[in-house]
Amino acid sequence: MQTRAINSLDASVVGLGCNNFGGRIDETASKRVVDAALDAGITLFDTADIYGGTRSEEFLGRALTGRRDRALIATKFGGPIDDDHKGGASAAYIAGACDDSLRRLGTDRIDLYQLHFPDQATPIEETLGALDALVRAGKVREIGCSNFSAEMIEEAERVSRDHGWARFVSVQNEYSLLRRGPEKQGVLEACAKHDLAFIPYFPLASGVLSGKYQRGAAPAAGTRLAGMPADRREQALSDAVMNRVEALDAWARTRGHTLLELAFAWLLAHPVVASVIAGATKPEQAVANAAAAEWQLTAADVAEIDAVIAESKGQ
Ligand code: NAP
Repeated sequence: MQTRAINSLDASVVGLGCNNFGGRIDETASKRVVDAALDAGITLFDTADIYGGTRSEEFLGRALTGRRDRALIATKFGGPIDDDHKGGASAAYIAGACDDSLRRLGTDRIDLYQLHFPDQATPIEETLGALDALVRAGKVREIGCSNFSAEMIEEAERVSRDHGWARFVSVQNEYSLLRRGPEKQGVLEACAKHDLAFIPYFPLASGVLSGKYQRGAAPAAGTRLAGMPADRREQALSDAVMNRVEALDAWARTRGHTLLELAFAWLLAHPVVASVIAGATKPEQAVANAAAAEWQLTAADVAEIDAVIAESKGQ
């Protein structure tokens, strides 16, 4: 497994998203996924205080008992948990949220502590000042942001630099072969400019890019899409999406690869992408995902993929 830098952190290029833990899968199943991920060389585990009603952090922490040093834990704060923990990024909220996450994770440090969503009600100076205090206290090694626009990234960078504070070293936004917003919105450019690591979420478009969903066929029982409300499922598997999926699948197959491998390889063909944190509900998914990153695309391949996508729109 190759690694890439998230500033001082050396992260595996395939990470594990832990948002299924405590929600769609229980503690035993979550531990099996973590075991398989570690065995496959995955070192970056991405969770959040809100995942699984806070159980994701607990399950991950316990699954890493006795091998904490083999893992980098990335977690997030700022989303609403309950009436007493309404989220946000105020200094008072951050101090409590960090201690709660450390306790749930059963660890003395968070490797990457990410602001889950921008908080329009709190000045970014207040947020960054509080995060800088956590870094200085040794509770947090690096800080990152999520769901930030290019303008927000620029502003945060300026504030940290002006004050000499810890700076966001990563940006986690949605990005995949099906959702290319960060390219169009200048987010990848802002990351490259300031040497920030980009961490794409929903890299498999909730499993659509794993290749397991077929046009016109009902999703297999137990899959994420099978459990979705019908309107969201229809949107996720619309004709426009399936045109693109089928075209990309055919392109990958002519090169002896799968759509799943293409989904990882294409993200990692962008140097600004540090780690692809696909979620998994089964150990074999984590193993397949770890192996998928072995395919390295050339610049010519990436250009061909753009052409395949453009052509699929005309169908
Ligand atoms: P994803 O990676 O696009 O999809 C994961 C789902 O795809 C899995 O739950 C599994 O679905 C299926 N899958 C994964 N590997 C597979 C394989 N090899 N073969 C077949 N199916 C496979 O979406 P995600 O897990 O929701 O997102 C990844 C991570 O991003 C999350 O875990 C979370 O850490 C992070 N995230 C962050 C934000 C944010 O706002 N910052 C938002 C969303 C997610 P089944 O359940 O069908 O098995």
